[in-house]
Amino acid sequence: MSPPIDLEFQGVPGVIAAHVIATTDGLALVDTGPASTLPALQAGLGQLGARLEDVRHILLTHIHLDHAGAAGTLLAQLPQARVYVQARGAAHLQAPERLMASAAQIYGDEMDTLWGEMRPVPADRMTVLQGGETVRLGDTEVRALYTPGHAVHHLAYHVGADLFVGDVGGIRLAEGQSARPPTPPPDIDLPAWATSIALLRGVPADTLHLTHFGSYRQEQAHWDGLERNLAADSEVVRRALESGQDLPAVTDTFTEHLRVALAAEGPELPERFAHACPPWMSVQGLARYWTRAAVRRG
Ligand SMILES: [Zn+2]
Repeated sequence: MSPPIDLEFQGVPGVIAAHVIATTDGLALVDTGPASTLPALQAGLGQLGARLEDVRHILLTHIHLDHAGAAGTLLAQLPQARVYVQARGAAHLQAPERLMASAAQIYGDEMDTLWGEMRPVPADRMTVLQGGETVRLGDTEVRALYTPGHAVHHLAYHVGADLFVGDVGGIRLAEGQSARPPTPPPDIDLPAWATSIALLRGVPADTLHLTHFGSYRQEQAHWDGLERNLAADSEVVRRALESGQDLPAVTDTFTEHLRVALAAEGPELPERFAHACPPWMSVQGLARYWTRAAVRRG
């Protein structure tokens, strides 16, 4: 497995990766990053001795802009290539207007510099997966695993000794950092995430590949850390909400919790982590989850 391509998102190394799988039917990319980092993707492929035109398959873990934003643009340049996506993400990929409109509400003027364009993916260039099936790319077998929790349409991909975990495997920016959950709106689902972790723990792979960021050994400690941090993060937000804090106050509480936890594992981690998933966004996702849970309880 070649090393991940560092897309140097916002000029910062080690935030968003694209992973490359060599097959007898061309290259497969696991996640493309956003359109804004396409030059870095192209340069990274060049460093691996490959060209953009060698890419035949685009395996999306999910359709968030930082993972799938460039997919449509790439397809327009690569007439041979196909995109693989979970069924519940497919419609948004074909017609990304709603996705872009909701992102624009969050990012406003920064949309273009952060993400760039998101072009639609034509239906006939798309293989829609449920999760559970095996896809053959040349002589490489790719097993898609339905892994909701971070996003309702999230897939992980198991290829031999390698397991590509997208965002359901957490954000881990250094060997010494425990995996932490990115929890943006709108799909955060804690029980589903726990089920996905249990599934991925049992996958017989040697190496985990994270979009944010890099490759780590498949060890129970990775998943233990993610579970612990998911419980801690969600409790911080739940308690702050229950104590009557408004969203800005919850955000302050959570940001400080996260800063302290990350700084204890590495002084440079809090800043880099915020590029992968800003704390205010994680608060929005968890606040939405708890508010809906309260409604469900009546
Ligand atoms: Zn992400």
